[in-house]
Amino acid sequence: MTRISAERLLADIASLAAFGGRADGGVDRVAGSAADLAARDWLAGRIAEAGCVAWRDDIGNVFGRTPGGSGPWLLAGSHTDSVPGGGRLDGAYGVLSALEVLRTLREAGHPAAETLEIVSFWDEEGAAPTSGGGLVGSTAFCSGGHLAEITAFLELHIEQGPRMERAALDLAVVEGIVGIDRYAVTLTGETNHAGTTPMDGRADAGRAAARVLVEVREIAAAADPGMVANVGCVEVLPGAPNVIPGAARLVVELRAAGRAALDACAERLRAHAARVAREERCVAVVEVLSRKPEARFDPALCDHLEKVCKRLGVTHDRLVSYAGHDAGVLGRHVPTAMLFVPSSSGVSHAPAEHTPDRQLVLGCQALLDAVVAW
Ligand SMILES: [Zn+2]
Repeated sequence: MTRISAERLLADIASLAAFGGRADGGVDRVAGSAADLAARDWLAGRIAEAGCVAWRDDIGNVFGRTPGGSGPWLLAGSHTDSVPGGGRLDGAYGVLSALEVLRTLREAGHPAAETLEIVSFWDEEGAAPTSGGGLVGSTAFCSGGHLAEITAFLELHIEQGPRMERAALDLAVVEGIVGIDRYAVTLTGETNHAGTTPMDGRADAGRAAARVLVEVREIAAAADPGMVANVGCVEVLPGAPNVIPGAARLVVELRAAGRAALDACAERLRAHAARVAREERCVAVVEVLSRKPEARFDPALCDHLEKVCKRLGVTHDRLVSYAGHDAGVLGRHVPTAMLFVPSSSGVSHAPAEHTPDRQLVLGCQALLDAVVAW
């Protein structure tokens, strides 16, 4: 049985965390920043030190493969950019595990090394003001010629939520990524003097918006107990202490594993906004801002990963991811699946992001086993 080197993997994670490293243990490695570019150079160097060939495409994705290896390739990796004040594992863990797998297979003279390619995608997070909204490198990759040489994609990642830790799972096979819909809810009432207008004569758009906001959680739960909803933007106009708001706008984001749940939730949201508007003498308009369809990963590849988990004898289950990943983009084009390790206390996109070493090592070993047996 071919074993990865735990020490080398953990040392690489520590080394990469120094790029954009913060005193609080987090990293500032937003795509395109000096720290991000230096980290990509370092990664290319580590690939070369392993006796492999590092190369980059036009967008800035960094790849590594065995010299003389020939496609078609099984691709494995993730991203090395971070959000501002992010953690050291999000993305980085998947890239460095893929590197460790390639390095280990090469040292062992295993034929799987000849057809494994690793990748760090450019700008997954979309954290820079100039970013195209994230998933930039994987999206560009999927419209390029190299995609035709890829047989499948595997992404190892931290869970970024508390479900695995709560269920005492070491590993999870990710079957897909939730769909994400965003709606703008605009309530229009009547701007008037906040002192002289009687309370029963107001068309207060701020109050109407608040009544919509406070009900969003119940609306989502009624549509699908597994879905999540958020109101992250609230705007009240004109925005003065002595003026009754004549307009108010909320942005509601919904995430669910199926289109049916998203649509059912939107229907309930519209009905509730209309009822509240009637009662508050306002007008409600609910508009779609964006729709990201759910991603369903390859069933055969998911079964394969589950077998690997079983063989390792670890606690495991299947999950759906509520966060977006490069795998969601790749999964529309090639057989794709993901493997999760737990996030301590469910913390992510923060300096306190952590996964016990034992599980980091387990995840990397599972990735190697999956590559070898595929
Ligand atoms: Zn990530």
